[in-house]
Order: sequence, then C-alpha cells, then structure tokens
Amino acid sequence: MPRVGVLALQGDVREHVATLEKLGVTVVTVRTPSDLEGLDGLVMPGGESTTIAHLLVTSGLRAVLQTKLDEGFKVFGTCAGLIMLSRDILDGRRDQWSFNKLDVAVRRNGYGRQIASFESSVEVRDVGVVPGVFIRAPKIESYEKNVEVLATFDHGDGEHAVLVRQGNVWGCSFHPELTSDLRVHQLFTDSL
Ligand code: GLN
Repeated sequence: MPRVGVLALQGDVREHVATLEKLGVTVVTVRTPSDLEGLDGLVMPGGESTTIAHLLVTSGLRAVLQTKLDEGFKVFGTCAGLIMLSRDILDGRRDQWSFNKLDVAVRRNGYGRQIASFESSVEVRDVGVVPGVFIRAPKIESYEKNVEVLATFDHGDGEHAVLVRQGNVWGCSFHPELTSDLRVHQLFTDSL
C-alpha cells in the first residue's frame, strides 16, 4: 500500500486527505522535513501559492523537497500546487519562486477571479469524463514537447492543457479533491 503525503501548510488539505483515504492508501500530512520520510509520493494542494511558497521556506521544506523532486520523488500539484511546480509563473508576485519541475508557463487566475469560478466536465485520457472545479485556477498557456498532456479544456478561448505530467511530476489546473470522483487521484496513486 503506497504511503502518500499531503503538503499541509495551507489550502484544501482535508479534502485531499479524504479523497486519498477513500482510495485506500496510507495518508500522511506533511508540515516538516521529517514528515517526508518513507513517503512514495506527495500531493500539493490548492490554496494560495504565495502563502504556500512562504511557508515552504519557513518550514525548511523547500530545500528538502527540491532535492527529492530532482531525485525523482513523485509529486502531484493541484491548482496552487501546479503553480509551485511550473517553470514560468505569469502574473506571479515579483519574487515568486517555484520548484521548476514542469516545463509549462502558467498564468495565475488565468480562468478568472474567485467570482468567475466554475465547474465543467473535463475529459481525461484513458479515464473518461470527470467533473472539473476551477477556482481562481492557473491557466497553462504553453508547454514544452516533453510535457505529456492528459486532459485539455476549452473555456471559450481554445484548448488548454489542464492535467499534465512530466516524468515524476503531475500538475492539474482544477480541483479533483472537491468532487466525489476519485479517478484523477487514482491515476497518481496507481503510478506510485
Ligand atoms: N490563484 C491561486 C494562487 O495563485 C490558486 C488558486 C487555487 O489554488 N484555488 O495561488
């Protein structure tokens, strides 16, 4: 049974824990570097990427996680988590850093502000149609050829990737943890 961490610094931690528990994996909340010991993978929840970035530094997790990511540790970032993993952050705070593990450019709040949040079906490759909840969601505006696109979505301005994978790192614009559909998380846990 894989042991999966959920980064528990800020954001919708509880919802990810609940979803992973329904999948039957062992779930560990991660707040300090030692919490990462013995994990097979980690979920980075949605929330506020600037706050999460700050807490990653003060908790000492930034450096340890960067090393682990570079060594192939499997991480799945949703929404703000996707921002934390992306190479380029558009409309970020001037000093906003990321782990730079997905060769994508994401625009913060690219699908609109909180008031423009919406839910729509998203077709995921090899899985089928899942509900997609977009809340101040980052939009993947471009990506390199080495990025595998598992789902796209057209919000009226053409197809944009919304679920991507590059080696050990996965990223998702929407919030699979806010629905009862477990299949997006399962894609990740099946890979562990
Ligand atoms: N827009 C938020 C940010 O920049 C992310 C929104 C979310 O995670 N729901 O961090």
